[in-house]
Amino acid sequence: MSKKISALIVAAGRGTRAGAGLPKQYRPLGGVPVLRHTLQALLAHDAVRDIQVVIHPDDVPLYDAATAGLSRLRPPVFGGKNRSESVLNGLEALANDAPEIVLIHDAARPFLPPEIIDSLLLALGDAPGALPALQVVDALWHGEDGAAKAPRNREGLHRAQTPQAFDFATILKAHHSATAPADDDVALAIQQGLNVAIVEGDERNYKLTTPQDFARAERETMIDIRTGNGFDVHAFTEGNAVILCGLKIPHTHALLGHSDADVAMHTITDALFGALAEGDIGQWFPPSEAEWKGAASDIFLLKAVERVAARGFAITHIDCTIICEAPKIGPHAAAMRAEIARLTGIDLDRVSVKATTSEKLGFTGRGEGIAAMATATLVKL
Ligand code: MG
Repeated sequence: MSKKISALIVAAGRGTRAGAGLPKQYRPLGGVPVLRHTLQALLAHDAVRDIQVVIHPDDVPLYDAATAGLSRLRPPVFGGKNRSESVLNGLEALANDAPEIVLIHDAARPFLPPEIIDSLLLALGDAPGALPALQVVDALWHGEDGAAKAPRNREGLHRAQTPQAFDFATILKAHHSATAPADDDVALAIQQGLNVAIVEGDERNYKLTTPQDFARAERETMIDIRTGNGFDVHAFTEGNAVILCGLKIPHTHALLGHSDADVAMHTITDALFGALAEGDIGQWFPPSEAEWKGAASDIFLLKAVERVAARGFAITHIDCTIICEAPKIGPHAAAMRAEIARLTGIDLDRVSVKATTSEKLGFTGRGEGIAAMATATLVKL
């Protein structure tokens, strides 16, 4: 049978090093408080039965807002005058429905990979305590007044992370027997003669301490995915072919327009500008300018593709629907997709071109012109 495992998060600190404003565990990251990211990382592991958070008495409204709707949380308890006291308060709160294992975690490590929990639980089979840590690989120098003074041996040195995992009864007893506050629970356990195993940490499990850490976390949290839509209509005029997605298709009429009137390509172009919130094709290429008269529409599309790249995005998908009774689009759809894929530089399986009639209704149904609509999806690289 699997063991009862609780997590204990110490979130009572003021966290002023991360910059002004809220305590860092409540600062938003991608619009979500850091503490909530941390709780969700722990809750994502099925083995975690419940979580006890230790908070500052002033932070009750912040805690309530940060944890709204989350399950498996015990009522918060207040911290003490140092970290050791805060952890002890949390352990004593857990003792009334005691777990067998406790994972003591920093509130400000929101990107805990689940594999670390697996490694810790495995290590607890052989030791009463375990912590994740990374071997120091950089050279170490002792410095004074901004100058390097002497190299230091990095042999055997590790950078400690959390959670620190313990047999619950053992660490609670260690706290009760402690005579002086320790830096953390591993230090306390070692003071008491307990064996604490080291398991492999993970660079992703970094602690948010400085404003630079927050900037990094913000970049990693916010995946900027955008969709834009486009819609366009061109009327038929005298002629013997239409141009759609860059392909010349024989027809009883041509399309009327300032450029080559490629309604489908215009629509895709507008979807891209829309995703960037950079206006539309008419703003980039005003019909009042003679330069664009009769122009092949790929210059418009290539401009939008250039803007996508300049803004640091990649096009991940384009879907275009052409609406007309005639000409028949189906026989040309594959070649249209290939041309759009070529112009945008994306894979063929990311480009869709399809067609529909409007059941003889409306202006397209009466054969007065062709309408098109498109959706484009961009992802920030
Ligand atoms: Mg147009």
